[in-house]
Amino acid sequence: MVVKSEDGRELRSFTFKQEDQSQEVRAVERRVLLETLAAQLPHDVIQFSSKLARIESNPDGETLLELADGSKLLAKILIGCDGIRSPIAKWMGFSKANYVGHCAFRGLASYSEGQPYEPRVNYIYGRGVRAGYVPVSPTKVYWFICFNSSSPGPKITDPSVLKKEAKELVKNWPSELLDIVDATADETVSKTPLVDRWLWPAVSPPASAGKVVVVGDAWHPMTPNLGQGACCALEDAVVLAKKLAGAIKSNEDHSSVEEALRSYGSERWPRVFPLTVRAYFVGSILQWENPLVCSVRNNIVIPKLVRLGPLLEHTNFTPESL
Ligand SMILES: Cc1cc2nc3c(=O)[nH]c(=O)nc-3n(C[C@H](O)[C@H](O)[C@H](O)COP(=O)(O)OP(=O)(O)OC[C@H]3O[C@@H](n4cnc5c(N)ncnc54)[C@H](O)[C@@H]3O)c2cc1C
Repeated sequence: MVVKSEDGRELRSFTFKQEDQSQEVRAVERRVLLETLAAQLPHDVIQFSSKLARIESNPDGETLLELADGSKLLAKILIGCDGIRSPIAKWMGFSKANYVGHCAFRGLASYSEGQPYEPRVNYIYGRGVRAGYVPVSPTKVYWFICFNSSSPGPKITDPSVLKKEAKELVKNWPSELLDIVDATADETVSKTPLVDRWLWPAVSPPASAGKVVVVGDAWHPMTPNLGQGACCALEDAVVLAKKLAGAIKSNEDHSSVEEALRSYGSERWPRVFPLTVRAYFVGSILQWENPLVCSVRNNIVIPKLVRLGPLLEHTNFTPESL
C-alpha cells in the first residue's frame, strides 16, 4: 500500500505482510463476486428485475410481497438484502440511513491491452478530498474520490458530467489519477452520497421480526472508510445460513426459525454496530480540511505514527464452517 499527499509526495509505503502476517488485500470486482456467488445456486432460482413494491404480513406468519409488475409472492421466510434504501427495513420500522457529509465518485478503468499499475492499494490524501485506486484484475483498475459536501446534491447520471466533476476535485493531483478517470468505462462511473445507520440498542428495531430478517446494508449501512460493508454483508449471510439451516433441519415450526433469526441478530450486532461507528469516525478524520491538521497528518501521523496491524484488526473474522 502506498500513501501520497496531493502533490504526489510519498508519505508511507507498507506491505501488509510486513506489518501483520495475518493480513492481505483482495480487491474483487463486484460483478465477478456476484456472478461467482450466483453460479453456486441451482439454475433458474434467481428472478431478476423483481422490484418489490409492497409488503404485507398475513396471520399465518407468512409475508406477501407484491412486485412492481403486479405479480405476488408468498414468502415463508423473508430475507431483506435490498440495500441502503431497503423497503423491507423501512417496513420493519428502521429509520432512513443518515447522510454523513461526504460523497464518493467511483469507477472502473478498463485497459484492453493490460492495466499498467503495480498490484497495490494507492491512497492520496488532500484537504477534505481523498482518492484511491487499486488494480482489480489484469485489465481493470478500481478508483474512488471522496469529498466533503454539506448536502448530497442533485442526482447526476450523465457519465461525462460525473467524470468532469470528479476530475475537477483532483485537477492538480498526481496525473495518474486523472488518467485512470479518463480510462473509465461510462457505465461504471457513479456518485454516491455516503450514509450510515447506527443501530442503538433499544432504539433501533431488532434485525428480525417474526420470519422477516434484514442483512447487509439493509440492516447496517456503514460508510466505506474501513472497506467493510460488503465484507459484513457476506459475514451476515454465512452466519444466517448456518442458523437457518440448523432450524429448518431440526424442526420446521415457526418458533425455531424465528429463534434462528433472533440469534443471528444477537450474534451479528456486536460486530456490525462498533464497525459502523468506527467507520464514521475514521471518515471524519480522513476528511479533515484544516491545513494545519492536514500538515500534521501528512508529516507526522502517517509517516511516523500509523501502524497498519492494529488498524486492520477489525477485518479479522472467522466464521464457523457451514
Ligand atoms: C464508495 C463506496 C466504496 C465501498 N467500498 C467497499 C469496500 O472496499 N469493501 C467493502 O466490503 N464494502 C465497500 N462498500 C460497501 C458495499 O458496497 C456495500 O456494503 C455492499 O454493497 C452491501 O451489499 P448488500 O448486498 O447488502 O446491498 P447492495 O449491494 O446495495 O444490494 C442491494 C440489492 O437490492 C436490490 N434492491 C433495492 N431495492 C429493491 C427493491 N425495492 N426490490 C427489489 N430489489 C431491490 C438492489 O437492486 C441490489 O441488487 C463501499 C460502498 C461505497 C458507497
